[in-house]
Amino acid sequence: MTVGLQIAIDGPASAGKSTVAKLVAKQLHYTYCDTGAMYRALTLAAMQAKVDLHDEAAVLAILAKITISFKPGEPQQVFVNTQEVTQEVTQAIRQPDVTNNVSTIAALAGVRRQLVQHQQMIAKAGAIVMDGRDIGTAVLPQAAVKIFLVASVAERAQRRYAENIGKGINTPLAVLQEEIEVRDKKDSTRAISPLTQAKDAVLVDTTALSIEQVVARIIAITVEKQKDHK
Ligand code: C5P
Repeated sequence: MTVGLQIAIDGPASAGKSTVAKLVAKQLHYTYCDTGAMYRALTLAAMQAKVDLHDEAAVLAILAKITISFKPGEPQQVFVNTQEVTQEVTQAIRQPDVTNNVSTIAALAGVRRQLVQHQQMIAKAGAIVMDGRDIGTAVLPQAAVKIFLVASVAERAQRRYAENIGKGINTPLAVLQEEIEVRDKKDSTRAISPLTQAKDAVLVDTTALSIEQVVARIIAITVEKQKDHK
C-alpha cells in the first residue's frame, strides 16, 4: 500500500504546470488542485462587481461573499458560488482581462492569507497534486515532492499562442510574450510569497521536453519518495 503524498508544482506563467499536474494526478489517482483558478475566480468576481482591484478591503468583502469550490473530474470544474467558471463556453476565468488583472489581486496580503488557508485544508489528507506559484514555499512547505517547472519565455508565449488559437483568441505572439513577462515580474517581485524556487524543489526545464517526458520525470521522483514514506 503506497502513501498518498503531497506534490507541489510551481513555476512561472505558461510553463505547463496545470497540463502536467493534471496528468500526474490522473496517473497516481490523486486529487488535482489548480490554485491559480482560485485567484482567477476571485479576480473575475471582483471585476464583475466593478471594485477597485487594488482596494484590499473591497476585494476581501467580495471574497467573504463568495464560495470558491472545485468539482473533481475531467476536466476539473471550478465554481464561484453555483456559477461554473472554467468550462463554460466563455471560459470566464481564462479570459485575457482576468489573466492580466489576476497578479494585482494575488499580491493582496489578506487575499493570500485566506486562499492559502483554503488550499491547506484541501491538501490536508495528502494524495494531492497542487500547482501554483508558492505551493512549495508557503502553502505546503512540508510537501514530499516539490517541482519547479520552467521554460524559456519564447517557448511559453508560443504555447499560449497555440492554446489561444484553439480557443479562437487571436492575440499576437509578441503581445502574449510581453504579457507573460509582465505577469512573471509582478508575481516574482511582490512582497508576500513571491514566485521563487523552494530550496528543496527539483528544477525541471520543459523547453525541450514533451509533456509525457515531464510527467514521467515527476512520477519517477514521486515513486522514489514513496519508498521513504512507507
Ligand atoms: O497558474 P495561473 O496562471 O492560472 O495563475 C494565475 C495567477 O494567480 C498568477 O499569475 C499569480 O498571480 C496568481 N497565483 C498566485 N499563487 C498561486 C497561484 C496563482 O499568486 N499559488
